[in-house]
Amino acid sequence: MRYISTRGRTGPHGFSQAVAAGLAADGGLFLPESLPDLGSALGKWETLGYPDLCYEFFRFFATDIEAARLREIVDASYRRFDHPDVAPLVRLDDDLFILELFHGPTLAFKDFALQLLGNLYAEQIATSGRGINVLGATSGDTGAAAIHGLLGKEGVSVFVLYPDGRVSPLQERQMVCTGADNVFPLAIQGSFDDAQAALKEVFAESEFKAEYRVSAVNSINLARVLAQCVYYLYAWFRLPESKRERCEFVVPTGNFGNVLAGWLLRGMGVPVPGFRIATNQNDILCRLFNTGEYRVGDVTPSLAPSMDIQVASNFERFLYYSVGRDGEKVRRIMGELKEKGEYRFEDFDRNVFSASSMTDAEIPQAIRSVYGEYEYVIDPHTACAFKALDPRRTSVVLATASPAKFPETIARAIGFEPRHESLEALKSRPLVKYPIKGRKAEIMEFIRAHAAGD
Ligand SMILES: *Cc1c(COP(=O)(O)O)cnc(C)c1O
Repeated sequence: MRYISTRGRTGPHGFSQAVAAGLAADGGLFLPESLPDLGSALGKWETLGYPDLCYEFFRFFATDIEAARLREIVDASYRRFDHPDVAPLVRLDDDLFILELFHGPTLAFKDFALQLLGNLYAEQIATSGRGINVLGATSGDTGAAAIHGLLGKEGVSVFVLYPDGRVSPLQERQMVCTGADNVFPLAIQGSFDDAQAALKEVFAESEFKAEYRVSAVNSINLARVLAQCVYYLYAWFRLPESKRERCEFVVPTGNFGNVLAGWLLRGMGVPVPGFRIATNQNDILCRLFNTGEYRVGDVTPSLAPSMDIQVASNFERFLYYSVGRDGEKVRRIMGELKEKGEYRFEDFDRNVFSASSMTDAEIPQAIRSVYGEYEYVIDPHTACAFKALDPRRTSVVLATASPAKFPETIARAIGFEPRHESLEALKSRPLVKYPIKGRKAEIMEFIRAHAAGD
């Protein structure tokens, strides 16, 4: 399988090459040259356990990794999940299911992709014999998941920029209490946008980047999207057959990465009928799917912070298919969007997508009402899914984080704090973080001093 760029001006890459590059050289995102038809395999996959299904799926995509190696990589990636099903599907009601995606090491769905990505990086280091330095910026969950995907791995140092005092205390502890000597959480003065801007400046230093083999860990990596396809397929198989053809996956959405993965399965011959884009009060994607208008505004901090975004970086992949796989057209639209901050989309399938948004005032109410009805505790991100569920369909809500990560919001809604032993254990561990101002030169100096060698 080869991988092409959404902007059409980068030559085809192999899987490992596309994963290592992250972003394509023409500024686009990688996608498979053609989507495989999984239709004939589905019958054989129905009863597979999670790692087995993931392995079979990736055999279609990671074609430059030897089968036995791929098997080891996949098995290692889901070994640290604390539920035997990895992604258990819980039934709350006749037509209401919850797909729990928070059983990984950092208790949020990003572990599905970042555990695997960590092992794919390790494979590349082993094959090339050269170390790498991974740099990311985070508002919370991604940084923690990236760190836990790479901690203790040979030949890699991880540097994560985050806004000091602006991530939740537990999210911070997941980054700064690992005890691993290849992990460097950099607490910068300023906001998440400042961290992101500093990161971009460092990546623009191409000589530095090449010399230290600096790689980005962010939401646009091809391997992340593919890893996320697997749990949709796994959940779809666990639904009673009569429910499959009228189910709607309800997806708490920020960057569009999660919902994109589910939608891609349709192009691979898996007849998943519908997706709900569930946003918080930062509702740009909800407005887009309801009106066709994409207009970038300001981000307002919400109770579901991991969905506080305005530019949905993965949307470009969806756009590519929507405009008939025309890379030049994608270039034009992305250019226009960047210039004017808005664009009108006409051509996407409105039968497949629905969209809703939830305000901060509604989030605690949703947590309370789900708890009252089902004695089931949802986190503030998952809560955004519980807005106007379609009674004619079977809803499969993706639970993207454990409620234990957001004890204050939950306590305010239902009067007690959910706990998780892995978070309790962090409270007694020493904090190791590196406060910096966050200027480019300072970050580069830090990386030089702590870089992974050859
Ligand atoms: C990242 C995140 C989301 C949003 O996922 P996208 O792929 O950006 O749409 C939702 N919930 C939680 C808990 C997250 O960490």
